[in-house]
Amino acid sequence: MRLQPILTPAFPTAALCFALASAADAQSSSAWLGAHVPNGLAAPGQHAVLDDGHFSAPAATVPSGEEGARDLDGTRIYQDLAEIVGFAHASRARGDLMWGRVSGFRSAVETADWVAARFREAGLRDVAVQRYSADKGSAMWWPDHWEVRVLADPALGVDTRDVVLGSAVPARGAEIPGRLLTAPVIFAGDAGSLLDHDVTDKVAVQRIQPASGAFGQRDAVGEGAAELYRRGAVAVLNYIDQAGNMHVRDFGGCRVCFNIGSEDGAFLRDVSERAARAGKLDDLRIRLYLDATARTGLSAQNVMGIVPGVSSEIVIVNAHLDGWYDAAGDNGDGLAVLVALARHFARPENRPARTLLFVASGGHHSTGLNGPSHFVAMNPELTGRAVLVLNLEHIAQFLVDPGSFEVQRAEQSMGWGVTNMAPPLLALTDRAKARFGFALRPQYSTSVAGDLGGYASLGVPRVQAIHAGPLYHTSGDVLESISVEGLERAARFYASWTKGVTEMSRTEIDP
Ligand SMILES: [Zn+2]
Repeated sequence: MRLQPILTPAFPTAALCFALASAADAQSSSAWLGAHVPNGLAAPGQHAVLDDGHFSAPAATVPSGEEGARDLDGTRIYQDLAEIVGFAHASRARGDLMWGRVSGFRSAVETADWVAARFREAGLRDVAVQRYSADKGSAMWWPDHWEVRVLADPALGVDTRDVVLGSAVPARGAEIPGRLLTAPVIFAGDAGSLLDHDVTDKVAVQRIQPASGAFGQRDAVGEGAAELYRRGAVAVLNYIDQAGNMHVRDFGGCRVCFNIGSEDGAFLRDVSERAARAGKLDDLRIRLYLDATARTGLSAQNVMGIVPGVSSEIVIVNAHLDGWYDAAGDNGDGLAVLVALARHFARPENRPARTLLFVASGGHHSTGLNGPSHFVAMNPELTGRAVLVLNLEHIAQFLVDPGSFEVQRAEQSMGWGVTNMAPPLLALTDRAKARFGFALRPQYSTSVAGDLGGYASLGVPRVQAIHAGPLYHTSGDVLESISVEGLERAARFYASWTKGVTEMSRTEIDP
């Protein structure tokens, strides 16, 4: 499947609805002082290696005797994942600029209902979609509309037309008083080593080159923005220099602040440098538009279903159902494997020793709507019987080289976290890892940074694998970036691990 360049939907506000400049029109050599004009939102070009539809990682190991576990088949799980990603596509098709499966909004309601239907089909008990309201006093920053438009000026070439930066997305919490801001724009250098330019009363562009996911650059972005404001900038654009020209939904607290992808960033840098050489920097202007509000009174959904075991003690298996953009790897893959495990263990021949409580949690990305903490509060009897919580999160994405963005025939390596580092749990991990080749990094830790925070109050061990690769929280986190074989590896690993933990004594689980 080829990934087509993704074009931003037409700007929806009538008052500002000028004809969009066509990139092709603006491409002539006299436009923009000869700078190359970007072509809108686009996934990394390297995704083209997935074109043939046969891009694959080595097949998952299926130990003899386990061939019959057809619910764990990667192709089957991938079909479910495609349906999960479909809810994000529908959100986008409805015109959501910040599309995804977002708790508090319709796309997450649809996803929750879909999971409940799969749980019921599989024969789980007590299947329920549990709705909960946002924490008192919480408000979720939400951008409805925005536009970042570089304004044409004859001084920059006679054929110069406005350029709308298709990858632009407001950073969390951004706000423009009066919604519109027009000012000169200047490339200010790399965050961490900003150039000595005068940014007074200007929109300053700082470049960030993430060594891995943009996730690791939050401090650098914040410090760079603070420095630019100290020097008098009126707004900051974070030029996230990754492949393609992607939306990056990350960073916050940088006031009047948008993230832009690498092609849009390269354009601004190039045209800014050309304008500086030509003595025309003041003619290079940009207009920022942002309609963002603090949403209150939102609600979200958790989905639960039970597979009764021989014992009434419970192992919770959790995956968050929400995500930004297509969110195939955060966390469509974890959710699809959750459904596969529910089907697998619901079969009479796979009845577990302990009871399994499957939870598809909401609100991982939505302020005041944390799914696990609401789930614990709403289900004290069930969660009080829990002896361990296992979380499935970001578990089957192809390894993407952080420098070249080339997709590798393997999965992204994941950190394995076990809060209590109980030796029997680690030994169980070693055995399952060796058996199925699940891509865990060799060093295990107590870190469970992900959806498990809301379960901390239970005081039981919490366990997960997770990665934050280069596509994390970007519009490049698409279905094609997920490994079919990796889904099967994850499903078989977790089925084996879950079975093992349901059969352990409590002292082994929590010595
Ligand atoms: Zn996640």
